[in-house]
Amino acid sequence: MTRDGLADDPDRLRAAREAVVEYAPALAELTPGRTGNLSVRDGDAIAVTPTGVPYDAFDAADVPVVSLSGERLAGWMTPSSEVPMHTGIYRHDRPGAIVHTHSPWATTMATLHRKLPPVHYMIVAVGREVPLADYAPYGTEELAANVVGAMAEAGSDAAILANHGLVVTGPDPETAVENARHVEDLCRLYLRASSVGEPHVLTDEQLATVEERFESYGQRSGVDEA
Ligand SMILES: [Zn+2]
Repeated sequence: MTRDGLADDPDRLRAAREAVVEYAPALAELTPGRTGNLSVRDGDAIAVTPTGVPYDAFDAADVPVVSLSGERLAGWMTPSSEVPMHTGIYRHDRPGAIVHTHSPWATTMATLHRKLPPVHYMIVAVGREVPLADYAPYGTEELAANVVGAMAEAGSDAAILANHGLVVTGPDPETAVENARHVEDLCRLYLRASSVGEPHVLTDEQLATVEERFESYGQRSGVDEA
């Protein structure tokens, strides 16, 4: 690998790449096989999980780094095929990390073309709903645009990708992974409840009250204490 300005800045890159190494194994619990991916942003570059290798089979120095326009900057392993989706989201609203999974309950919603309504107050960790992004082939700019549009319209940090899976963003990888677990759990809850009847949804007023309580913990991710 040729050395360049970013590769010569080990502190800047090291933290993001080490975070990918630290949090990638969490994907194994969430998504079948090697179908998920994770990225961590540092300025105008991201460290992203490599494609085709187990989530615990690489070191920070292996982790690919790409610019927000998708240009390879460092790391010898081939980056995830979903880089265009990650960079498209980062260019739009600059979260700190993105998790993408084919986690089974969210992906069941994806096959039904269902968004996740506010059936439980924990949804406030990502917004008032998890919208459905229209289908587009994986790894395309079109998919990125659909995801960005759906999340922006709903004011949500997550989106269900039609006939595909789930995307969750966060200020840092810990929050993004944790919120991916929350959304997966809520999809399971919603589908179980829907098998018996029509789940009740929280009103905007009820959700606003929850948002105020969460904010009093100092961050949206304070849901574990709620
Ligand atoms: Zn995927």
